Amino acid sequence: MSLLVYLDGKLVPKEEAKISVFDHGLLYGDGIFEGIRSYNGRVFKLEEHLKRLSDSAKAINLNIPLSLKELKEAVLLTLRSNNLKNAYIRLVVTRGVGDLGLDPQKCPQPTIFIITDKIVLYSEEFYEHGLEIITVPTRRNIPEAVNPCIKSLNYLNNILAKIEATNAGFLEAVMLNSEGLVTECTGENIFIVKDSCLVTPPCWVGALRGITREVVLGLSLKLKIEAKEDVLTRYDLYTAEEMFLTGTAAEIIPIITVDGRMIGNGKPGKITTSLRNAFTELTQNEGTVVA
Ligand code: PMP
Repeated sequence: MSLLVYLDGKLVPKEEAKISVFDHGLLYGDGIFEGIRSYNGRVFKLEEHLKRLSDSAKAINLNIPLSLKELKEAVLLTLRSNNLKNAYIRLVVTRGVGDLGLDPQKCPQPTIFIITDKIVLYSEEFYEHGLEIITVPTRRNIPEAVNPCIKSLNYLNNILAKIEATNAGFLEAVMLNSEGLVTECTGENIFIVKDSCLVTPPCWVGALRGITREVVLGLSLKLKIEAKEDVLTRYDLYTAEEMFLTGTAAEIIPIITVDGRMIGNGKPGKITTSLRNAFTELTQNEGTVVA
C-alpha cells in the first residue's frame, strides 16, 4: 500500500499529496518545518519539536491554524496510518497559496503537511569510524537577517555550504559566521571536547537551537561530563580532543578530521561514545506513544 501523507486535514496517498505552484512555501521559501523521529513506537521529544515549530511560526508572523494538541494528534495519526514504529517525520507549515507578489497577507490559509518515512543520512561505517568534514567559504546567515533559530524553509544558505562540501569530496561542512566563529553544520549542531569539557557554540552566533543538542547537554549532566556553551574558532576545532555532530536525523555522529587536521587519535572519542550509548538508550525508552 502507498505511503499516506497528511495534507491539510486529510490523509492522501503520497502520489496525490500535491500542493499549488502558487504556495508561498514554494515561491518564496515562506514557511517553517520540523524534522522529528520516532523510535520503537514512540515519538522522541515531540512536545519540544512542536514548541520550536510554534516559536518559528511566531517569529515569521504565521498563525498555524491548528493548536499544538491538534498538531500532535495529526503527527500520531499519520504514523498510525502508515503503521510506522521507527520513522522520520517531516512536519511543514507554509504560508499557503497567494498571488505572485511577496505579501503574506494575501495568503489566507497556511498549508500543513506531514510526511512520515524512513531516513538514513550517513551509513553505519561513519558512526563506527567517524566522519571527515571541512569548513567552507559560505558563511551562516547573520541572525540580524533571517535568524538561524527560525527553522524556516529557506535552506539555500545551508545547501550552498553542502554543495561546497560535496564538490570537495566531503559529506558535511562546518559553517562559520561573518566573524569567523563556528556556528553549526548544514543540518547538525557541533560539539567539541577540550580539556575533557564538552563545548558547543551558543546559538546567538548563528545556529539552530537543536533538540538533539539540548538532549546531549542534558545527558552530559547525568553522566557528570562538564559542559558549556562557548564561542569556537577554527583553531578550537583543530586542537579539539574529540568532536561530534548532533541532529534528529544524524543523531550523534563522531568527527575524526576537520580541514585535514586529525581530531584526537583519529578515532571516535570516549566521551562521544558514552554520549552515543546514553542517547540510544534514551531514544529507545522515552517518547510519546504512537499506538
Ligand atoms: N542545525 C540545522 C541547520 C538543522 O537543520 C538541524 C536539523 N534540524 C540541526 C541543527 C539539528 O537540530 P535537531 O537536533 O533539532 O534536529
